[in-house]
Amino acid sequence: MGIICPACSRNSLTITSKIELPPNERSDEVTLQLIECNKCGFQGIAVYEESRRGKINSDTFSHRGYKVSSELLNKLKEIVDQCPDPNNSKCRCKAHRYFINLYRAGKWGWLEEQSKHKPFEITYQV
Ligand SMILES: [Zn+2]
Ligand SMILES: [Zn+2]
Repeated sequence: MGIICPACSRNSLTITSKIELPPNERSDEVTLQLIECNKCGFQGIAVYEESRRGKINSDTFSHRGYKVSSELLNKLKEIVDQCPDPNNSKCRCKAHRYFINLYRAGKWGWLEEQSKHKPFEITYQV
């Protein structure tokens, strides 16, 4: 099972690194993922957010991808790699604090600015 690549339309987009972030104003679960297509070389970032604040059985989530430059991707990968415990949203290492500050500063607007493209929906295909 892979994620559909927005560049080549194959299901060859994979998550290469991820970091769990603490809840924010609208989501209980926030995960930042670095994504890469192993067929065409597309690189980007995905943000998974899940909210359980609605009524019972009304979980809502969003999973969006953003195309970014390889420069930015490499920089973010370096930061994610510094975290000793990326699956722990309570971790407060330097890497976690970096991402927490970013989304406090303006949610994920910085990503949309960086990518200069509209986000795309993450879709899985077997
Ligand atoms: Zn591709
Ligand atoms: Zn950390």
